[in-house]
Amino acid sequence: MTSGSLLFKNRWVGKIKMYDIAIIGAGIIGTSAARELSRYQFKIALLEKENDVACGGTKANSGIVHAGYDALFGTKKSLYNVRGNQLYDQVCQELSIPFKRVGSLVVAKSEEDLLTLERLKENGIRAKVQSLKIIGKQEAFELVPNLNRQVIGALYAPTAAIIDPWEAAIAYAENAVTNGVNLMLNYEVSNISKINDVFQITSVQGHTLKSRWIINASGLYGDHVYRMVNSALSFNISPKKGEYYLLDKAAASITNRIVFGCPSKEGKGVLAAPTTHGNVLIGPTSSLVSQKSDTKTTSEGLMTLRDKAKSLLHHIPYEMNITNYAGLRAEPSTRDFIVEASEIPNFINAVGIKSPGLSSAPAIAEEIVGIIERLNGPLIVNPLFNPIRRPRLIFSALSDGEKELLIKKNPLYGKIICRCEMITEGEIVDAIHRPVGATTVNGVKRRVRPGSGRCQGGFCGPQVVSILSRELDIRREKVTLEGVESYILKGRTNSAHGGGNLDES
Ligand SMILES: Cc1cc2nc3c(=O)[nH]c(=O)nc-3n(C[C@H](O)[C@H](O)[C@H](O)COP(=O)(O)OP(=O)(O)OC[C@H]3O[C@@H](n4cnc5c(N)ncnc54)[C@H](O)[C@@H]3O)c2cc1C
Repeated sequence: MTSGSLLFKNRWVGKIKMYDIAIIGAGIIGTSAARELSRYQFKIALLEKENDVACGGTKANSGIVHAGYDALFGTKKSLYNVRGNQLYDQVCQELSIPFKRVGSLVVAKSEEDLLTLERLKENGIRAKVQSLKIIGKQEAFELVPNLNRQVIGALYAPTAAIIDPWEAAIAYAENAVTNGVNLMLNYEVSNISKINDVFQITSVQGHTLKSRWIINASGLYGDHVYRMVNSALSFNISPKKGEYYLLDKAAASITNRIVFGCPSKEGKGVLAAPTTHGNVLIGPTSSLVSQKSDTKTTSEGLMTLRDKAKSLLHHIPYEMNITNYAGLRAEPSTRDFIVEASEIPNFINAVGIKSPGLSSAPAIAEEIVGIIERLNGPLIVNPLFNPIRRPRLIFSALSDGEKELLIKKNPLYGKIICRCEMITEGEIVDAIHRPVGATTVNGVKRRVRPGSGRCQGGFCGPQVVSILSRELDIRREKVTLEGVESYILKGRTNSAHGGGNLDES
């Protein structure tokens, strides 16, 4: 049994349970919808096939809350992007997530590019994006001195922001669970039937529950899940890969704003952006792939990326690259987000949410509540709803006096586990025991960042394994990197003598 399935067992009720709403998929769309719906008196189940939330497209993207000038005015993408961007200030304040309005520049290098910027600006103004303006060369270089020397102007959008995408989804999920949502991990929906207006939902793991409503928030698998209730499917969803370089914090000075190339027929192009943790991202590529699980980076993709990124910044120190990753966009055949009550009564699709889905999530969640209200009638407010999530304590951000006091109260905060990011044992233990606690090494990394620094877990990894083993009360050999069979240790090196160290596999 993996650590993830232990977690699932704890949250499973044991018999067929009836819910008002079952949400399939715990990415940013499923978790934000769960949190918004928990404002009302509903029994809600949030079902996720992986052993943690935010393991799909939400795990690997650019972490940008776009201003909203890019998506074509009149589309759902445009509407939800602009509204989502506005909602994020309050959401991030309530959920205690870092959110920085660093602003973005789309850079132009030719007269033709300048015309494209004018078109983007007009589109943004129609969509009611605030404070958009086209700036000249001098102002552009004042904002980002390291721009490519051929840049002659830029579209400046001060409302564009950066956010940690998985921290956002984890925070949404935590707040939803605190407000009564039942999160069921390792619950891969494999069959849905409808009897007397009630859906019966079965998982690959052999569990069943019932629900009056279904919200399909299964991302890239949205067509597959919808096919379970409607074989005459009207859309398909294809995976489109995006690959990245993640640069060390020491490269932070190369840009403190988001820099996009001028969009072309091939799409939005690549970008350079700071992250909320002080690193720099270069990416993403854009290529259709055949497998919905193909998140491998490729040397070809990364070389293409380097080539394209030259047009953004004068100097990019790739020697400071600390890791590469790839994510899969959920490209819908409809070319716009699918957020609607489907042909099947009480089945809502919120799928095919490619970029700017992260930016749009708060608005899509609001829309899902609206759809249910329109079809169901007035909703009854949950009087116990608490919008505030307990903030995560960040030891490195405390003053010396605060650190001293904290260590006196809890000596685990006096032990640094991750030296690159200065993460203490106290923070890791908290991440394991919070409402949607970490159960894997990467789950801990996504919550409190050990392994996100320059050594990428080389030093702290074994210690995180030991802490997970102790806190979850499982053998160290049973601790996984990312669930399923991703075990890290094989066995004891000198087991013949009944002791010794555990081998890394
Ligand atoms: C390279 C790249 C860059 C991007 N950059 C940005 C950006 O900067 N800004 C922005 O706004 N957007 C960006 N996006 C888009 C954004 O990441 C997505 O729109 C968003 O994460 C989609 O969230 P989701 O919840 O719909 O999907 P997901 O995060 O994929 O969640 C779907 C969940 O459903 C689960 N699931 C699937 N099938 C089942 C089943 N049968 N049973 C149970 N669970 C199931 C999956 O495991 C998954 O956890 C980017 C995307 C990519 C790939």
